[in-house]
Amino acid sequence: MTSTDVGFDRDHPVPDRYTVPDCGELDAMADALSDGMLSGGASIVTEYEQALADWLGVRRVIAVSSGTAALHATLVTAGVRPGDEVLLPATAPLPTAMPVLTCGAVPVIVDTLPGSLALDPDDVRRKVSARTRSAITLPLWGYPADDTAARGVLADAGVPVIEDACQAHGTQIAGRPAGTHGLAGCFSTHDRKLLATGEGGFIVTDDEDFAERVDHYTHLGHLKGGHGVNYKLAAPLAAIGLRRLAVLDHQLAARRGQAERIMSHTKGVLAELGYRDGDTPNYYSLVLVAPRAAQRIAAELAAAGLAPDSIRFGYRPLYHQPLFQNYATWCPNAEHLTATTLQLPVHPALPPETLDWIGTRVATLAGEPS
Ligand SMILES: *Cc1c(COP(=O)(O)O)cnc(C)c1O
Repeated sequence: MTSTDVGFDRDHPVPDRYTVPDCGELDAMADALSDGMLSGGASIVTEYEQALADWLGVRRVIAVSSGTAALHATLVTAGVRPGDEVLLPATAPLPTAMPVLTCGAVPVIVDTLPGSLALDPDDVRRKVSARTRSAITLPLWGYPADDTAARGVLADAGVPVIEDACQAHGTQIAGRPAGTHGLAGCFSTHDRKLLATGEGGFIVTDDEDFAERVDHYTHLGHLKGGHGVNYKLAAPLAAIGLRRLAVLDHQLAARRGQAERIMSHTKGVLAELGYRDGDTPNYYSLVLVAPRAAQRIAAELAAAGLAPDSIRFGYRPLYHQPLFQNYATWCPNAEHLTATTLQLPVHPALPPETLDWIGTRVATLAGEPS
């Protein structure tokens, strides 16, 4: 089958947006509305938090208004104050890094290990200082990053780790879900994420004291004297989240099948972004590594309306963004990773012929001389 048979071009782009089929959200919204309890104080929000905690196997979940709010509240609660330093990988996109600036803190950009999204432990050792208050790890695109070595260095330095798991719902790393490896994990439920409530997010932790303090901070100090912000999640959004959480495992399995279908065409030509045996990506995107042809393939796919992040978001290491240029420090491994990876859509609504077209097209382009 050729591209003309399927007919993808600029006027008929491959759809990259996905909305889960109706799973009772409308009824749940109607119930919330007829309850008349629409604020973040409604009992449905507590019910949603408990369901998330059960799904992830953690002690506490605090629902908040966005992934950005989750990251900001977590950094503040971890003690990040103006002038403090926060380590983060050079592969971090803007939404990971902006909350550090919101704290008035200094982002310290760390290189990743070769061919990996994990923090390079040697670079962490070089960049950790007396002002380092926290470090962020990032399983980007839902890919398991093996941060074990960096975690060891950070633990020795007494630096708490925060996971930005905003794209990693259901990703498994070393036998545990992404978001449950550090002091706290931050998730987004923005419309584009695998669990979507429009806007929204949540913080997960096994540390009861930390949970109490994050809850306090995100709920205006419960108006009991302490300082806080209002990052509560509104009840109708919790109602949507609760219904969609019930079909999330099903969606994750469907994504894995879609990814495998594309990879049946690219096997032996292009490798998948690496991870350890036993770990599992959630297939937020399928990420393939094209050492020589990534930019050329990306340009071709973009012409079919299927733009990888490298083109759509101009994805490159963080310090290329004007907002973070002052924090630039050359990160060769992250430069190489962002220049050689392709992020492909594998959402459950893509029909088999589209997946076959993507797989064969990518494999053909990768095999052509540059
Ligand atoms: C989406 C996202 C965020 C921010 O979440 P919002 O809910 O949009 O505020 C942060 N980090 C990463 C990696 C994300 O993908």
